[in-house]
Amino acid sequence: MKRIFSSKVFPVIFLFTILVISFSSVFTLALAQHRWKVHDWSRPRPPVIDPGTFSTQETPGRPPSDAIVLFDGKDLSKWRSMDGGPAKWIVKNGYMESVKGAGYIRTYQNFGDCQLHVEFATPTPPKGTSQGRGNSGVFLMGKYEVQVLDSYENITYADGQCAAIYGQYPPLVNASRKPGEWQTYDIVFHGPRWDKEGNLIRKARITVFHNGVLVQDNVEIWGPTQWLKADPYTPHSEKGFLALQDHGNPVRYRNIWIREIGESAHQRKEVTVASKLLDMYAGDYKIGNRTFKIKREKDHLIAEAKSGYWVPLFAESDTLFYSKELELEVEFHVKNGKVSGLTRQLTGSKSEGKRVQ
Ligand code: MG
Repeated sequence: MKRIFSSKVFPVIFLFTILVISFSSVFTLALAQHRWKVHDWSRPRPPVIDPGTFSTQETPGRPPSDAIVLFDGKDLSKWRSMDGGPAKWIVKNGYMESVKGAGYIRTYQNFGDCQLHVEFATPTPPKGTSQGRGNSGVFLMGKYEVQVLDSYENITYADGQCAAIYGQYPPLVNASRKPGEWQTYDIVFHGPRWDKEGNLIRKARITVFHNGVLVQDNVEIWGPTQWLKADPYTPHSEKGFLALQDHGNPVRYRNIWIREIGESAHQRKEVTVASKLLDMYAGDYKIGNRTFKIKREKDHLIAEAKSGYWVPLFAESDTLFYSKELELEVEFHVKNGKVSGLTRQLTGSKSEGKRVQ
């Protein structure tokens, strides 16, 4: 009988078998690291939150306890104009209202992938037609618009009506309420991604519920919003501000909150610092032959990142503050209850500053 394996073939098969066994054990190990057993009691449980309440026409609901509240009807402290100055929209009776010519407003803070809740009401009695009636918009990352429009018995082009991804996707249905009534958007947004070479590897995706009705079903955004043209994507960071549009019509907003999701949710810690400490830190600091200015604005500090351009600082501890917008970090040096100076990190470079008395 012929031998099945010649002496030459056998070592090859042996080696191959060893390789298969080692590969499969590595593979099993990898799987074990990434998959939990079914009903594994050692698997970490999700954080417990208070889900809040739904809104009625009369009363805005309470946001989930882990949401970042961007507007609670009281003030525009989380907002500013696009040029960095104060937001010039009106706040009254628990809502904010866009002011013709005041321009878009944007959040201080930048956000990445997120769940966003926005409530809005278009003017009553309605004025104007088509795109001229109750026009505003919610711009995710300042670039991708979910249209706000009075689309109640108001005909316009499909991809420009209320709840459209403007210029790209009409809503699946027109779920608009009457002018003057409060309406809701619940949005799930995943931003675009680029590789290190700047090649687009993931387009932005968006899901929108309008008054609780699904109107955009995880659609892939073509590129930044434009009027009368389609712009391609251009690389930008994984986080960007949220903006609301002034399109010349007095549209009202209330109860705006956001929850970052996915990797974006891993934010730096944010603590509240005693008012007297904020007062103590505010002042001028000498760095080389330049003056680095820090001021107090309501319940937080703002720093002059470059001449005339101020950014808010958020506290990670009683002495360590950071910007959510720029790579800027400030650590105050406190001795015997007095500030002697600070260490500033700005876009990678570290410098010491002395307090100017
Ligand atoms: Mg608009």
